[in-house]
Amino acid sequence: MRIIGLTGGIGSGKSTVSAYLREKKIPVVDADRISRQLTAPGSPLLPAVRILLGEKVFHEDGTLNRQAVADCIFSDRELLRSYEALITEETARRCLEELRQLEAEDRWPAAVLDAPLLFECEMQRYTDENWLVQADPETRIDRVAARDGIARKAICDRMQRQMPDQEKASLADVIIDNSGSLDELYQQIDRLLERMENET
Ligand code: ATP
Repeated sequence: MRIIGLTGGIGSGKSTVSAYLREKKIPVVDADRISRQLTAPGSPLLPAVRILLGEKVFHEDGTLNRQAVADCIFSDRELLRSYEALITEETARRCLEELRQLEAEDRWPAAVLDAPLLFECEMQRYTDENWLVQADPETRIDRVAARDGIARKAICDRMQRQMPDQEKASLADVIIDNSGSLDELYQQIDRLLERMENET
C-alpha cells in the first residue's frame, strides 16, 4: 500500500483534497481528527494539558477551549514545543496505527495521511510520497475568513507561525496549486491518481 502524506498551511485546501480523495474511495487518515480525540472530554492527556497551559484553556464545563489553546501556544514558542511534544507525538503514533490497520486489510492500493504538521512532526517517515497543497496567501486568508468568520489579522498571525511554504515545498514530492477553481484542483488530483495507477 502506497502511503501519501498530504499537507499544507492554513486554508490551503487540505480538507477539500481529502474529501475528494475519499470520494475516489481512497482511505484518509486524518491527523486533526485524531488530535481532537486526544483532547476530547475524558482523554487521559487532558490533565497534562491543564498542568501545561492552565485552567484558562478550559471552558466552564471542563471541555478544552481550542481557540484559547491556539492563542496560548502560538504566542509562546516554548509552550508550543511542549504542547506539540505532548499531543503530536501521540497523534503521530495513532496515525501510524491506523495506517497499519489499513495495510493489514490488504485491499487498498493507496492511503492518505492528511496531516497539517506532517513535516513539522516528521511524519513523512511513514509516507512514500508527500503532496503539498498551496494557494497564494491572500486567497487562503479570504477563504478561511469566509469559512470561519474570523479576523484577517488572526489568520495572518497563525500563518506566520507556520513552517514557511518554501520550506514545505522543499520537502514535498508533489505541489498541488489550489489558487484557482475547485475544478482546476480536482483535475490536478485526477492526474496524480492516474499517474499512480499507471505506476502500479
Ligand atoms: P485548515 O488548515 O484551516 O484546516 P484546509 O487546508 O483544510 O484548512 P480547506 O478547509 O479545504 O483548507 O479550504 C479552506 C476553505 O476554502 C474551505 O471553505 C473550502 O471550501 C474553500 N476552498 C478550498 N479550495 C477552494 C477552491 N479551489 N475554490 C474555492 N474555495 C475553495
